[in-house]
Amino acid sequence: MTSDNRLPIFDGHNDVLQSIYLPQSGKPRSFFERTARGHIDLPRMREGGFAGGFFAVFVRSNSATGGFPGVLPDSTVTSYELPLADALDPTYARDITIKAMAGMFRLEAESEGQIKVVRTADELTATLGQDVIAAVLHFEGAEAIDPDLNALEVFYQAGLRSLGLAWSRPNAFANGVPFKFPGSPDTGPGLSDAGRHLVKGCNRLGILIDLAHINEKGFWDTAGSSDAPLVVTHAGVHACCPSTRNLTDKQLDAIKESDGVVGVNFHVGFLREDGRREPDTPISEIVRHIDYIARRIGIGHVAFGSDFDGAIMPLDLGDVAGMPKLLNTLRNHGYDEEALRSITHENWLRVLRKTWKQ
Ligand SMILES: [Zn+2]
Repeated sequence: MTSDNRLPIFDGHNDVLQSIYLPQSGKPRSFFERTARGHIDLPRMREGGFAGGFFAVFVRSNSATGGFPGVLPDSTVTSYELPLADALDPTYARDITIKAMAGMFRLEAESEGQIKVVRTADELTATLGQDVIAAVLHFEGAEAIDPDLNALEVFYQAGLRSLGLAWSRPNAFANGVPFKFPGSPDTGPGLSDAGRHLVKGCNRLGILIDLAHINEKGFWDTAGSSDAPLVVTHAGVHACCPSTRNLTDKQLDAIKESDGVVGVNFHVGFLREDGRREPDTPISEIVRHIDYIARRIGIGHVAFGSDFDGAIMPLDLGDVAGMPKLLNTLRNHGYDEEALRSITHENWLRVLRKTWKQ
């Protein structure tokens, strides 16, 4: 045992519900048995010190291409642009969302107390202090929500505590960025009137608004109308890797100003300066983004946003069981225990407590 195991790791984004309950291959795997498939299962979470995180419900645009609006480039390509995905049918989105949520609640029940869907900051703090994995129910895109916000009220009562305004496609509220490298996140119009109404609805209920995937105008419109800290659950730094999915310096400054946080995405294509989707990428590339954010806006505003089960991980990290390697790499780069506590969980706890208001 190393001292890593004493630091509970809370993470900004995983797609395990998609890989367990909405499998593309048609061959679901068990969450409770260790396999080499995907990046997350309960035994590997325990090995890696994973204490909790945002569990995403995501409705795929096109199942044939893994949800992406086209075929993603191979690992040698340094410049690409996928078309922006079409908007989803909201009724279809709601059906799939309910299926994935049911999956989350079944997983909670089957875990016999090992996993808990948390709804308040006190519950989150309590589970992190015990041996229970905390799951924050998150929607990656607002397609399942109607403009009158009836679904938002109901999903909130069911446990929804975090909502991404858009995935990388348009919806009634906001517009996401297309997958493009190199490229600016300023790719189109900002929030609609319904989008501003949704921001207010999230503020009123205490639902975290996630600004991952949204375009830059949508980011600024949200910054101008939300009274909660600005949060990006899984992205990187544009100055380190000029992907449309990464954050400009101005955006980082606004996140600091609002006392928000960035969860650094481990996807190699959003880490590497050349944008290549190359698994043979060192763990130190994650540290490069963390360093940049910590230096520019402070250690209190950077955290993890792995994208486990939804992206290409650095080979040396592998999966969630590899998290102690990342902590050791950070230590070797000069991060002390206090800094590691901030990054691994304290920053997320502070922002969630402020946002949820309970
Ligand atoms: Zn994502």
